[in-house]
Amino acid sequence: MKYFIITFGCQMNKSDSERIAFLLERIGYKKTPNEREADLIVINMCSVRQSAVDRVYGLAKKFTQIKNQKSKVKTLLTGCISKKDFLRFQKFFDYVLPIKTLKIWPEILKKKGGYYLSNQREKEFLEKFKCDYLKIKPKHEKNFSAFVPISSGCDNFCSYCVVPYTRGSLICRPHEEILEEIRDALKNGAKEIWLLGQNVNDYHSNSKLKSQKSKVINFAKLLKMVNDVPGNFWLRFTSPHPKNFSEKLIETMAKCEKFTPYLNLPLQSGDDEVLKRMRRNYTAKEYKNLVKKIRRVFKKIRKSIYKKGFPEGFALEDTISISTDIIVGFCGETKKQFQNTLKLFKEIKFDMAYIAQYSPRPGTLAEKFEDDVPKDEKERRWKLLQKILQKFALSFNKKFLGKKILVLAEEFKDGFLIGKSRHHKSVKFEGKENLVGNFVLVKIERAFPWGLKGKLIEK
Ligand code: SF4
Repeated sequence: MKYFIITFGCQMNKSDSERIAFLLERIGYKKTPNEREADLIVINMCSVRQSAVDRVYGLAKKFTQIKNQKSKVKTLLTGCISKKDFLRFQKFFDYVLPIKTLKIWPEILKKKGGYYLSNQREKEFLEKFKCDYLKIKPKHEKNFSAFVPISSGCDNFCSYCVVPYTRGSLICRPHEEILEEIRDALKNGAKEIWLLGQNVNDYHSNSKLKSQKSKVINFAKLLKMVNDVPGNFWLRFTSPHPKNFSEKLIETMAKCEKFTPYLNLPLQSGDDEVLKRMRRNYTAKEYKNLVKKIRRVFKKIRKSIYKKGFPEGFALEDTISISTDIIVGFCGETKKQFQNTLKLFKEIKFDMAYIAQYSPRPGTLAEKFEDDVPKDEKERRWKLLQKILQKFALSFNKKFLGKKILVLAEEFKDGFLIGKSRHHKSVKFEGKENLVGNFVLVKIERAFPWGLKGKLIEK
C-alpha cells in the first residue's frame, strides 16, 4: 500500500504531515512520489487564505477523476478545515478527519470510507480515546531540519483569523516531551530546530523538576532549555505575537548563542483603528517601540558575548533580521489608514515581509464586517508595499557582500546548492550534492532582494 501527501500552508501543517507519514508507515504504507501510484492520497489543507482553499477544490476534482480510473484509491482531507468547507468537501473525499484524531486513523482507515468527523465529533473522540496527536513521532521530511511544535491551537481570536476555529484552543506540550523530540531529531542528524506555535509567547508548561525555582516554564525558559541541549545546531521559532513579547524573551533570544539572528514578528497593519478591528491588542507605536527594543537589546548582548569578534561565518551576528506579516485591504481600511501602514513600514525598514491581500474567512468575526476594499485597490496597496520591501531587502542583503557566512545547505539543483543563512536568507552557490544537510562556509559575491549568491569556501 502506498501513500501520497500534499501539504498546504505553514510550518505547522508541514510538521503535522511528518506525523501523518510516521503513522502511515507504522501501519505498513510506503511513500510514493507519484499520486497516480498511491492507494491513499492525503491532503493537509490550510484555510488561512481563500486561494489555498480554492486549490484544494481544484485537486479534489482531479482526484475524483483518478478515483474513477482506479476505484481502490482512497482520499483523505485533514488540516485546517472551516465548518463550512467541512460540509462542502465531504462529497469529494472518502475521509475528512481533524488532525487531532490522527492516533485513531489506523482504525478509521480500515473502514470503507465515507467517514467524516466534524469538530464537534472530534471533541467526543478526543475525550473517549484521550489521543494527543503530538505524542506521535514525526518522520522528518529532511533529517537536517526539524519542525517541533510546542503547542497547538490559539485563544487570541484575531478577528480575521480562522485558526482558533480550525485548530481549537491553545494546548501546550509538556516541555519534557518537546526536549525529548529535539534530542531525537539531533540524534538523527538535525542541524536546525524550529519551535512552532500559533503564538509561541503564550506557551506555558508546569515543571516537575524540584531544581526549577519557578514551576511554570514560559517560552523564554523553554528557549533557554532548548539552547542548553548539547549539539551543534541552529535554533529558530515562529510565530510570536507582539502583544506579549516580554523583555525576558528578548534577553534570552540574544543570550542563547544557538538562536539565529532572525525573527518574524507579524505587524498586520500600521494603523491603530485597523489594529483594533483586527483585535490585535497593540498599537502601531507599541509595535515600533518593541522592534526598536529588540534590535537594541539584541545588539548589546550579542556584542558583549562576542567581545573578541564573531566566530568564522557569523557575520552581522549582532544584527537581528526582522521580517513581518501584513494584511492589506482589511475591511474598512481607508487610503489614509493604509498610508499609516506604509509610513510605519518605511520607518521600520523590514528585511523581509509576507504581504497578503485580505480575504474573508468563514466563521470569523471579520466575516461579518463589510469586505469593502475593491480587489484592484488591494492589489495596488500590495504592490506599493512590495516595491518598498524590495528596496529594503536588497539594502540589508548588500551588507553581506564580501563576507563569509555559514549556510545550511538544503537542496541541490542543476549543479547548485541552495540553503539558508543564520539570518534566514536564501543563498545559492556551486557545490556537490553530498553537502546537502551540512553547514558550509560561503563567500557572498552578489546580493538580490530575495537572496544571495556566493562561492563555496572549501576547507
Ligand atoms: S494569534 Fe491571531 S493571527 Fe495568530 S493564530 Fe492566533 S488568532 Fe490567528
